[in-house]
Amino acid sequence: MNLLNGNEVSQVIRLQIKDEVSKIKSEGKKVPHLAAILVGEDGASKTYVAAKERDCQEVGFDSTVLRFDVSITETELLIEIEKINNNPEIDGLIVQLPLPKHINEKKITESISYKKDVDGFHPYNVGLMFKGLPTFLPATPYGIIKLLEHFQIETIGKHCVVIGRSDIVGKPMSALMLQKNCTVTVCHSRTIDLSKYTLDADIVIAAIGSPKFLKANMIKEGAVVIDVGITRVDDANSKKGFRLLGDVDFEDLSEKVSWITPVPGGVGPMTRVGLLLNTLEALGRK
Ligand code: NAD
Repeated sequence: MNLLNGNEVSQVIRLQIKDEVSKIKSEGKKVPHLAAILVGEDGASKTYVAAKERDCQEVGFDSTVLRFDVSITETELLIEIEKINNNPEIDGLIVQLPLPKHINEKKITESISYKKDVDGFHPYNVGLMFKGLPTFLPATPYGIIKLLEHFQIETIGKHCVVIGRSDIVGKPMSALMLQKNCTVTVCHSRTIDLSKYTLDADIVIAAIGSPKFLKANMIKEGAVVIDVGITRVDDANSKKGFRLLGDVDFEDLSEKVSWITPVPGGVGPMTRVGLLLNTLEALGRK
């Protein structure tokens, strides 16, 4: 078993981004600037936005967090987004999801200028991605591709099974693996006899949100396994009072796989680096 160590690879990429930012600064040019919109007081959302802000600072990007009360109306939020769309100082904009129920997430996502859409959720960018044209790739699938490339995991002609069909992970992941010349199968909650597919897979990417779902008897010997899942479970023995579990039963699979991502330290840090790469890219998109 070999570890697809996301902590290690993300650190390498962060240093490359940092170097790039130093070069931009030394030429007297503007550095990338990420704006994040945070609505309400959701604890997890606050944590994610704070992490994104820290990541920006670490590589030398500018960052702005715009915090709004949970009572903000959809119209008011759309006006704020339009201001950022028109602000030449800001290169990338993300709106932390979920939004309060009275705000239509689809409408908000589509109101972000596709040139600043560093989450890659705008339908225009999704279209470009599916066509294999240059665009902002959603951060998690982007990070996974970077991880596979770093460890030179062979993809050509391989059977890749993606479990999950969400807009942010499963669907874009399947498109990117197709572009990597895999034969791709997408499985989901309505798939009948999932093991029939996973047992044939050279690469399994699990993005379900169900702790320890994937067991050794569901994969073939030597498979590459990517665990996207993150579920927080209470753990009195942990300092934080909880621990994070992936969709893969790591211990059960460890003897059987050729490569596997740990949780934490696998896909998570690569996702964060995916957003940084998009923000750097956004600088040149205006
Ligand atoms: P989602 O809830 O939108 O999608 C889950 C998918 O799993 C669905 O498409 C569903 O059809 C499928 N599914 C559910 N039960 C299944 C079953 N029994 N068999 C087969 N398929 C099944 O979730 P998401 O946003 O795609 O996220 C998935 C997981 O990845 C979550 O745990 C989330 O926290 C995690 N995640 C992690 C990162 C990261 O950076 N590591 C990023 C995004 C999401």
